Amino acid sequence: MEVNEEIFKAIFLNDLNRLQKIFVDYSIGSWNMLDKRGMAPVHYASFKGNLDIVCWLLDKGADVNFGKHRYSNSALHFGALNGSTAVCQRLLEAGAKRHVTNSIDRTPAQIAIDTGNFDCAILINNYLPKEEVMCFTKPGYSENELKLSTALAKLVYKFIMMTNIHPVKVVFEIPPEFLSDDNTLTIFNALHLLSRREFEKHHDTKEMLCFKFHYLATILIEISNLKDITSKKPTDPKEVFFQKVSSSHNFLEQFLNNVIVKFNFKDSTIFRTMVDYMTRGMDSKLPLEIILLLVGNKRSQYGEPANSQPITCSACEEPNASKKCRKCKTVKYCNRKCRKIHSSMHKKLCKKIRKDILASRSSEETSALGRCFSKLGFK
Ligand SMILES: [Zn+2]
Ligand SMILES: [Zn+2]
Repeated sequence: MEVNEEIFKAIFLNDLNRLQKIFVDYSIGSWNMLDKRGMAPVHYASFKGNLDIVCWLLDKGADVNFGKHRYSNSALHFGALNGSTAVCQRLLEAGAKRHVTNSIDRTPAQIAIDTGNFDCAILINNYLPKEEVMCFTKPGYSENELKLSTALAKLVYKFIMMTNIHPVKVVFEIPPEFLSDDNTLTIFNALHLLSRREFEKHHDTKEMLCFKFHYLATILIEISNLKDITSKKPTDPKEVFFQKVSSSHNFLEQFLNNVIVKFNFKDSTIFRTMVDYMTRGMDSKLPLEIILLLVGNKRSQYGEPANSQPITCSACEEPNASKKCRKCKTVKYCNRKCRKIHSSMHKKLCKKIRKDILASRSSEETSALGRCFSKLGFK
């Protein structure tokens, strides 16, 4: 058997040990080889969803964008097709191109959606190369005189890679370092610079990310300005925010309205769509719903049926919420804190749900009684 054939066979059988042995025995110098379909080893490993082999090949110098697949699928297309988010993440970190199209004009994210791999699509659509943030730490970097320490840049990168952007979740995730007096404005400027840079790019998710970074920047600066004027002691601005959300049913909507209005790119399609949704009279949507719909990465946006989506927390949209509302028992939360934060927004609906449940129970009881009477011959 030819050595190339042996390599592809080992990957097909998920046999990393065999692959490592071939590497030593044959002193393989390059992993940029192709089979008769034009697939490289990293295509095969991505198609198989084998993270260990993908990592090993990339560590050994395989080029993530190499290949001449006959249908023009890249390694990232195959990773998306397999549905492994870990493999897609590793390929993206190695510089896999996100906006290449295959012979039927589909990008890797679109292939992920087509095959029901929604988490891969969300990951790819939200991905930003780390370098785009780490450049703020480099000596000599001078755009807007912006300078971040490595530790702070890492926190900024983690913050912007969040895919659940419900405002409550965003505020939960603001690191304390972002709220210290020395850092807030610098991070706000960095996020706005990233937003502007996205707008200048040429790909289909640029406006979504442009708004997302503006949104995170504005939430950060607004939170840093929140103070409890009734308290003499210094207060945690995040707690002041949660307090306001839990005590007023429309605080959050006004807060988000302000975030939308402050968006710089008023000519963008995303801004026009938001304004359109807000001004439809009786059919208008509220800012929270609009933001979650257009930027929020909900799996329903990608076409996943509602019954297969995880149950999310009503306060912060995190998946796998398990604590029920004690009164209506129909909505769920992550924990007591989320339940408390959502209390004022849920109050009206909770009452209505309980009323509806009672009404349907009593109509069920009446009809059951009716059936008993008719069996006994009463009319
Ligand atoms: Zn929650
Ligand atoms: Zn309830």
